[in-house]
Amino acid sequence: MTFSVTQIGSWPRSERLLAALREKRMDRIAQAEFDQIADAEIVRCLQLQHEAGVDMVVDGELRRDNFYSFITDKVEGTKLMSLAEMLDTVEDKAAFEAMLQTLDAPAFAIRNPTCVGKLRRKEPLVVNDLRFVKRHSDKPVKVTLPGPYLLTRAMWVTAHSFAAYGDKPVMADDVVTILREELADLVSEGVECVQFDEPVLTEVVHSGDSKRRTFMCATLAVRRDTSSELAYAAELMNRVVAGFEDKLRTGIHVCRGNWSRREDVLITGDYQPLVECFKGMRLKHYALEYATPRAGELDVIGRALGDREIGLGCVNPRTDEAESVESIQERAQEALQYWKPEQISLNPDCGFGCFANRCVNEEAAAVGKLRAMAEAARRLRG
Ligand SMILES: [Zn+2]
Repeated sequence: MTFSVTQIGSWPRSERLLAALREKRMDRIAQAEFDQIADAEIVRCLQLQHEAGVDMVVDGELRRDNFYSFITDKVEGTKLMSLAEMLDTVEDKAAFEAMLQTLDAPAFAIRNPTCVGKLRRKEPLVVNDLRFVKRHSDKPVKVTLPGPYLLTRAMWVTAHSFAAYGDKPVMADDVVTILREELADLVSEGVECVQFDEPVLTEVVHSGDSKRRTFMCATLAVRRDTSSELAYAAELMNRVVAGFEDKLRTGIHVCRGNWSRREDVLITGDYQPLVECFKGMRLKHYALEYATPRAGELDVIGRALGDREIGLGCVNPRTDEAESVESIQERAQEALQYWKPEQISLNPDCGFGCFANRCVNEEAAAVGKLRAMAEAARRLRG
């Protein structure tokens, strides 16, 4: 399909769902009761996408606390720890404290899946979510998974993880295994697209010294040089997707953070330092930010990745006003210099939800932006 309209992943949570997520975290409601509430919200989210004219649907990540922490429910050997709890055990306390100050949310409100034992997939990560969406939508479905590099960076906290693994790369082997098990199941369920979220890659190349690190660097358990980190990220990704390349559309989403509406605290810098890493990844689809000027010019990626598909970020998920249809069309016209229409999808720069308890946008604004993209796609096809 040409100019396929889709989302990145997360959708704003309603008050009811937020309350249910809170209750679930505190073990105060049964899973079945939570599912009933989440199911209804996801059906509604799908309806809104259908009405807005979205071509490939997502479930809005509405069962998740955030885009990666949910795996603690599914993977043995993990524990959800708030950033405040982690402060005692991270290696670089000063940097971690500086990072916490860049947040405009309290440190107890953001939770990280920390490795505290041998990792093993005790239930599917997203396969059941995919099945649910397929029962309620006849559109192609995209599922989102945290990428292997993000998971490895986030989960390894030496004080908690050392006893089980001794070293981070050994833990990473199990992260790769878990994601491969998931991909195998997703293929047999007939998933159309799997997107790995690796927002931490912009932190690797653009955050500079530790004072400017953001919470996206997760546990800060890294300080190799940039090129080794990027090569490692590409290697992990390729190990995950090896053998699946022809079985499904695999993609990656990389943005500059989506935890605040304040543009000045989000990361700035183009994709140039990531071009080699992207090219080295055996992926089809690259869902990237281009609505924000912080992401630089499109030709950086256009010249390098013309043989792949671009998920063109063309609306800002963090503003109230929908972008004009004309401005989205213009952005897509620019992309046509580098890609054929069937290689171009339209999406927001990132999710509309991000962290459950502080979504970056409201439902009405998100719907407006989906509609604008769908209308732009209609005109572009015409
Ligand atoms: Zn993002």
